[in-house]
Amino acid sequence: MTTNKIRVAIVGMGKIAVDQHVPSIAGNPDYVLTAVVSSRDPAMPGVAWHKTLQSLLDDGPAIDAVALCTPPQVRYELASLALSRGVHVFLEKPPGATLAEVGLLEAQATKSGATLFAGWHSRFAAGVAPARAWLADRRVDSVSIVWREDVRHWHPGQAWIWEPGGLGVFDPGINALSIATHMLPDPFFLTAATLSTPANRAAPIAADLTFRDSRGAPVTMDLDWRQTGPQSWDIVVETDAGTLSLAKGGAVLTLPSGVEQHDDEEYPGLYARFATLIRAGESEVDVTPLKLVADAFLRGTRVAVENFDD
Ligand code: NAP
Repeated sequence: MTTNKIRVAIVGMGKIAVDQHVPSIAGNPDYVLTAVVSSRDPAMPGVAWHKTLQSLLDDGPAIDAVALCTPPQVRYELASLALSRGVHVFLEKPPGATLAEVGLLEAQATKSGATLFAGWHSRFAAGVAPARAWLADRRVDSVSIVWREDVRHWHPGQAWIWEPGGLGVFDPGINALSIATHMLPDPFFLTAATLSTPANRAAPIAADLTFRDSRGAPVTMDLDWRQTGPQSWDIVVETDAGTLSLAKGGAVLTLPSGVEQHDDEEYPGLYARFATLIRAGESEVDVTPLKLVADAFLRGTRVAVENFDD
């Protein structure tokens, strides 16, 4: 068991790395940010900068772990390289561009003894654990998921998100599925989907989905990236004991007994979990949310909608 600080490198200094990974590493005494892999010099004193992971692993300071914050389409090669050197890997969500590649990484991690962690940040939102506990012995009658946001505000100029493997509106939508698959007492599967895709893009801008849980309760999901004004990241669960509602992406929980709101815990929670897994010599790779998205692409009807330009 390692008791020293975990020397971690961030790969891909985009929005999520800067907004969440850097401060979460700085705020956790288990870690030291040792290096950054980026096309641009991040100008961080005391932190080594390399343009490629290969160069960092060959010529840089020793590291124990990497946090892969690139788009999903380029993550497999990076993860496989890190694991081949015995370096622990934190995969941003979604864990990959395909299910098969994530399966290969899982097998590689098992063989190498390094930790592979597929992080689902929304599962660490403050309301999710108490919601899961409350639902554990309830009968679920129906579930409604509404995830509507303004893509121009949240993903300006992110070309990769519209390309194959970038998931389009499922990039945020998979966060809702990561909560629902963790929180609901029964598994569910897709029965129908309509994917609305701009004629000039490869990925959907909106989607309507219907699922059914293993006891027959309907689960509906409304995803739309064309929302202006108030944004919605809401899940409402009707049960035999009343209504549970989770708002603001999981931060605000309302039960029949009242409202609970807590501070943001998502990324500090992810890094705490990653450290626990590393110290225990374990991996955690749940691909259930990605499976449901893959099934939507497999079984859904595609509808062409008007062009989208940034
Ligand atoms: P982003 O702002 O576009 O940053 C991605 C970074 O990855 C780029 O800045 C670049 O790093 C690096 N990169 C390597 N290959 C690339 C390529 N082919 N195309 C574009 N960038 C490439 O994306 P992001 O919003 O941080 O999202 C990254 C991952 O985190 C995604 O899987 C996303 O789903 C997930 N995530 C995002 C958010 C969010 O709110 N944005 C929240 C949670 C999770 P350098 O500039 O350093 O070279």
